[in-house]
Amino acid sequence: MTQIQTKYIDIFDKCKTNEGYFGDFRVSEDQYFVSPVLDSVPGTVMSFNGQDKIMWATNNYLGLAENEDIKKIAVETAKEWGVSGPMGCRMVSGNTREHVLLEEELASFAEKESSILFNFGYLGIIGTIASLVGKDDIVIMDKLCHASIIDAAKLAVSDPRNLRVFRHNDMNSLEKLLKSVNKNRKGGVLILTEGVYGMTGDIVKLDAICDLKEKYDARLFVDDAHGFGVMGPSGKGVGEHFGVQDRVDIYLSTFAKAFTAIGGVSAASKEVVDWIHYNARTQIFAKSLPMVYVKSLRKTLELVSSGHDRRHRLFQVSQKLSNGLRELGYFVADTPSPIISVYVPGGDLQIGLHWVRYLRDNGLFLQAVMYPVIPRGLFMFRIIPTASHTDEQIDTTLQIFKRLRDEQGLKLNVNLSAVD
Ligand code: PMP
Repeated sequence: MTQIQTKYIDIFDKCKTNEGYFGDFRVSEDQYFVSPVLDSVPGTVMSFNGQDKIMWATNNYLGLAENEDIKKIAVETAKEWGVSGPMGCRMVSGNTREHVLLEEELASFAEKESSILFNFGYLGIIGTIASLVGKDDIVIMDKLCHASIIDAAKLAVSDPRNLRVFRHNDMNSLEKLLKSVNKNRKGGVLILTEGVYGMTGDIVKLDAICDLKEKYDARLFVDDAHGFGVMGPSGKGVGEHFGVQDRVDIYLSTFAKAFTAIGGVSAASKEVVDWIHYNARTQIFAKSLPMVYVKSLRKTLELVSSGHDRRHRLFQVSQKLSNGLRELGYFVADTPSPIISVYVPGGDLQIGLHWVRYLRDNGLFLQAVMYPVIPRGLFMFRIIPTASHTDEQIDTTLQIFKRLRDEQGLKLNVNLSAVD
């Protein structure tokens, strides 16, 4: 790093310390626990450190990352449009009939009047929320919301006091906030939640939140990144799961999970989407979504819509694996989503990292989730099943977890009440 001689603090000084997110891992140049290098294309088996591992850490819920029809469309489109065409933002030279058709199809799938594409879910969340929240408006957010929602909320409010946080999935906590902001309310109120909470696998209490937002005249934004394509009888997400999609004011998803692509979509009434279209800076001032994605996403949406068998298999894999882990004595959270969270006793970092190493060295690739991604005092494994995993892979996985338990003499009970 270039050294500069100055009598003031150098803004780069912090880079020499172990501060910041994952600072210890950065300083140790770790590539085992954080940013591991995977040397193979997505699938249920992937190569890590030169060895094949059963992969339980990709957001490929319906197994569409391997789909040959989608790949074929992407290749043909790239031949015609290049990898990034059309060039330009939607408002100038980057809009096409295909973008408009995809938006119409997504709106119809999400049972909303209209929808708008973004280049990432992150940008969609920021653009949507920041465009709607004005000077006197209040944002109320679930404590466990994804970083992109937190960033959007912070960016959107003009005064930090206009951002309030309720305890995760706690309706009393939410109602208290709604009551209190209504006392001297000058603007609108927007509630932000996830649909399926991606890190823990539990889901929003959507019917109860809809009741509250209607009782207190607020609006509701749901980021259903992990539920879109997955939850509900036809994969339309948590709104369909609860039968309240019509009461969700803004429904957002990324394409980075079940849709195995890049981009995001906000779906809402035509009026609201038109507003977002003309006011969301992350959309207005960004190049439009490349045609490779737009065209392949139209095919993906078709497969997701008709993906009943894939969803059935996904939940079957999830249940088989989580039941097997519980039988072995592991603490597996009981969640309606397919995500499996295995909690490490005491939330102990060293034990947790030891488990990761044991499991990876013995043939499984799992993601460890720890602070600051989840609250301090918790350590867990997030297992993400896909519709493509085989029964044999599930059995092998359970055998490896059994060996971990037996060889390491693990005490597996977990006290979650110790965690705020
Ligand atoms: N919301 C949630 C809940 C997520 O897990 C993610 C991460 N993919 C995002 C938003 C951001 O989506 P993207 O990767 O498309 O920016």
